[in-house]
Amino acid sequence: MFLPQLLSSIRQLLRGSMGSRFGNARHGNGLPNSAANGPANGLYTITALGRWSILDAQLPVGSKASLTLIRRVAADKIKTIHVYDFDNTLFQTPLPNPKLWNSTTLGRLGSPDIFVNGGWWHDSRILAATGDGVEREEPRAWNGWWNEKIVELVQLSMKQKDALCVLLTGRSERGFSDLIKRIVTSKGLEFNMMGLKPEVGPNSERFNNTMLFKQAFLKNVMETYKHAQEIRIYEDRPKHVAGFREFLDAYNEQQQTSHSQSTRGPIAAEVIQVADISTNLDPVVEVAEVQHLINSHNAVVGSRSKRGRTERLVIRKTVFFTSYMIKPEDTKRLIALVSPNLPDNEVKYQANAVIITPRPCPPQVLEKIGGMHAKMQWGVMGIGSWENNLWAVSLQPIPPSAPYHTDSNMPSVVIATRRAARPSDVNKIQHWQPIPPENAFAFETEVGEKLCLAEKQAEIH
Ligand SMILES: [Mg+2]
Repeated sequence: MFLPQLLSSIRQLLRGSMGSRFGNARHGNGLPNSAANGPANGLYTITALGRWSILDAQLPVGSKASLTLIRRVAADKIKTIHVYDFDNTLFQTPLPNPKLWNSTTLGRLGSPDIFVNGGWWHDSRILAATGDGVEREEPRAWNGWWNEKIVELVQLSMKQKDALCVLLTGRSERGFSDLIKRIVTSKGLEFNMMGLKPEVGPNSERFNNTMLFKQAFLKNVMETYKHAQEIRIYEDRPKHVAGFREFLDAYNEQQQTSHSQSTRGPIAAEVIQVADISTNLDPVVEVAEVQHLINSHNAVVGSRSKRGRTERLVIRKTVFFTSYMIKPEDTKRLIALVSPNLPDNEVKYQANAVIITPRPCPPQVLEKIGGMHAKMQWGVMGIGSWENNLWAVSLQPIPPSAPYHTDSNMPSVVIATRRAARPSDVNKIQHWQPIPPENAFAFETEVGEKLCLAEKQAEIH
């Protein structure tokens, strides 16, 4: 590229990103929806597309520009687009540990609306705490924290000259650009584009959720690389897999059936669902990081006037319940055992504990069952349900004479609930359908307690 052209590209780039960063609504070709669907000038150019990628968006003025621009590929050279999700597709991202928190808390940690600072997915300290933490993990390229099959695919995409290799994540551009770049670079992975969710898109778009951001991003990629005949998307979340498929079907339908709206012709699309590989942080680190989340939340809430309705949070150290905790792989087997009986929608899966007591365990009971962390074997016996709103599996200790304790009359594990059903409704199940021997299996549990995160009322002074 000649120098004047290069400079003009950079200028264009900076104008674009400045405009978007300050929410400066710009109008382009005057067509309706132009701001939501395409670049402000109505042209899908490589330069315009560059504003969707952090590799370009953070381009320093006048320096190292050529390094970044090398990764750009002429639009007509690209025949296939390979898109990789980050969390639990490429990288084994820790999730909140279901052994530490009750299900309400798990939901609250994952929600962007509970913590004023965003929670689990918005605090880069949590991702940075993966393994032994960023300082120790970076030199060893986060060894053991990758989905190596997907890493191999990225390496193949990198070598393939006519493939555009894209990393696409709903993590925020502001909070995670630096950390995700460090993680990816440590592994020697190179992407043509890295898309992280911006607060405001290159065309002043605001994205209500990750799926809408990813769809807008992909549309821009497909419209720019018009010669690509194929797009492959790797994604772990079933909901997102479905979302991509619907989006691409609708996109192709428009390209095929409507001459007036056809912009590039249909594209062969494949969305590949990647098996769940999520892991957990060291439990001590996790509790400390969640405590840090809460502290920074409380600092913000505390400094606000009484107008805000947001409340201070605290980790209530009281035990929520004591249970025989089930390993994630056995949770999956239990769900698989019952899933043919379940309706398609609205069910909340549990299958992670045999409740001993919904309170701290009295010492004499704990002693009888072998103490905290005692291991116990169980065999699955029958499947029961209550009013088509709760499903459970009854269990038998192995060996049958092994001492155990549950407050309920029959040891069982709640597999799924629906609507207003509560786990304790399991005691209302009258009839257990025996599980045929060919489907029966045994699994091991460990006695443990769960903590509970609760909202604490603002203190009155
Ligand atoms: Mg993911």
